[in-house]
Amino acid sequence: MISDRIREYEKYFEDFITLDRLYPVIGVKITHHGRSFGSFRCTIDEYGEIYNYYIQISDYYDYTEENLRDIIVHEMIHFFIVYYKLAPISKPHGKVFKEMAKHMNEKYGMDIRKHPDLDKYKIREDLPWYKKVYYYF
Ligand SMILES: [Zn+2]
Repeated sequence: MISDRIREYEKYFEDFITLDRLYPVIGVKITHHGRSFGSFRCTIDEYGEIYNYYIQISDYYDYTEENLRDIIVHEMIHFFIVYYKLAPISKPHGKVFKEMAKHMNEKYGMDIRKHPDLDKYKIREDLPWYKKVYYYF
């Protein structure tokens, strides 16, 4: 379960701040997108209030444990930055993101970057044909 992983991966954020659990405020959606592994979404209302946080993860690829961890932690960094208002929302991969990713990569041997190389990932063999085709419009 992705939500169990989110709970587990909170430990990687302990160097930054003492958190209440991230889990209760992060939702998870599974997508079948072929051009992205994951994304972080939230709603901002007209008063600048941010809510409805969730992470989307694509089931299009055959991830290794490490791939999946890195993707989830990448999206959790986005959540973390937005939730604690550490950077402007218009710059999702700015200085703070880069610093946190560098920390994760150096301390935990992750490979978190702005744009992972999609070509290095294997498409799942067991997907129905209609999930293997991703259309651009
Ligand atoms: Zn990102």
